[in-house]
Amino acid sequence: MAETGSGYQALDPCVHCGFCLPACPTYLATGDEADSPRGRIVLMRALERGELDAEDDGLVSHLDACLGCRGCEPVCPSGVGYGRGLEAAREQLFRTRGLPALARLGLGVFRTRALWRALFGAGWLLRETGIPARLAGETGFGFAMAMLAATGDGRTRRGNGTAASDARPTAPPASQRPTVVLFRGCVMEGLFAHVHEATRRTLEANGYQVREAEGQACCGALHEHAGDRAGAAALAAHNVAGLLDAADWIVVNSAGCGALLKDYGHLLGTDAGARFGAKVRDVSELLAERGPRPGGSLPLEVAYDAPCHLQHAQRVHAAPLAVLGAIPGLRLRLLPGSDRCCGSAGIYSLLQPGLARSVLDDKLRAFRAAEPALDAVTTGNPGCLMQIGAGLRTAGLGIPAVHPVELLDRSYTAGGVYGGTA
Ligand code: SF4
Ligand code: SF4
Repeated sequence: MAETGSGYQALDPCVHCGFCLPACPTYLATGDEADSPRGRIVLMRALERGELDAEDDGLVSHLDACLGCRGCEPVCPSGVGYGRGLEAAREQLFRTRGLPALARLGLGVFRTRALWRALFGAGWLLRETGIPARLAGETGFGFAMAMLAATGDGRTRRGNGTAASDARPTAPPASQRPTVVLFRGCVMEGLFAHVHEATRRTLEANGYQVREAEGQACCGALHEHAGDRAGAAALAAHNVAGLLDAADWIVVNSAGCGALLKDYGHLLGTDAGARFGAKVRDVSELLAERGPRPGGSLPLEVAYDAPCHLQHAQRVHAAPLAVLGAIPGLRLRLLPGSDRCCGSAGIYSLLQPGLARSVLDDKLRAFRAAEPALDAVTTGNPGCLMQIGAGLRTAGLGIPAVHPVELLDRSYTAGGVYGGTA
């Protein structure tokens, strides 16, 4: 595993210019310098040097309030590696203080496939009863129910007439097609199986041969964000052993998972981890490499919201827009703040509900003000789908949040790409 010290060194170039402040959602929400990247860098360096200890409540509260969105990185003229510094600080805090019992329990569940499958299986069953949609509310338990309700197959207000098809598209012979193995993840497998199916169908329609591989674990992102790098590394080693040689590419449709999967070389410090990371692609990247091929018309007003872990951590910008651009009739909108964090950030929205809600409210204002009215918001990360979807629902806007491959899949179904469903 990488040394903590090298993480702090990524903060060395900071000249305290403050250019990053207007890009930081928590600074914009609180106006507190200690909730800004520049302020947190000062706190992290004090922790590194031992000037503040890991029990300092002020230090911990301001670092805990960081979304880890890395919106501060691309705007920094000095090339500060804020994410690496935060990773080092959170690991130091984890080693010194450990985690609260509830957080330890949660991370333990995600270490064991049978446990998280049971957890998400129960969540899926509850969602299918329709009870979470009825209990959805603005805060606390109600908002958690709204998030669960938002994991469903959200149909857009218009252009919903055609259900997705299970048919296989026509494609070149298998021997000529690049192979991809789908990284299933935990929340994606448990609550977004419809996105996995759309991923498989759209990739096959673009000439890829999609393989399934057993022996997968959670990506480890929740552990890594909590500072439990050993826990994250154990899960990473499991995934490397199971998937490294399974296909030409390892495809992922969750931006948060993808950011860490691509970083397994750094996390594990091994050649196998680096080779694994080099094979990982977001589904939008693989589709964009093939065009992707156009589908049938979906006359929809759709706002794209860029997941932080796709745009800032993976530096993937154009590929999701290319995916949406392959849908005739779809009017793509980039609203003010579409490149800013939605406040989801793993389990941040559950741990810091007030700040997460404040960050989300800026987006909801933009969605509400959109003219003409939106039919859907699209984003390629489960946490963002849940956070934005819950916000849209509880604000009474009646607009679903959907993954870009869901829209492409519906377009392919409408256009008969899968054979006989035009
Ligand atoms: S992180 Fe970059 S932009 Fe922010 S204060 Fe430091 S040098 Fe300036
Ligand atoms: S990672 Fe996001 S929340 Fe944290 S300091 Fe940077 S911009 Fe602000």
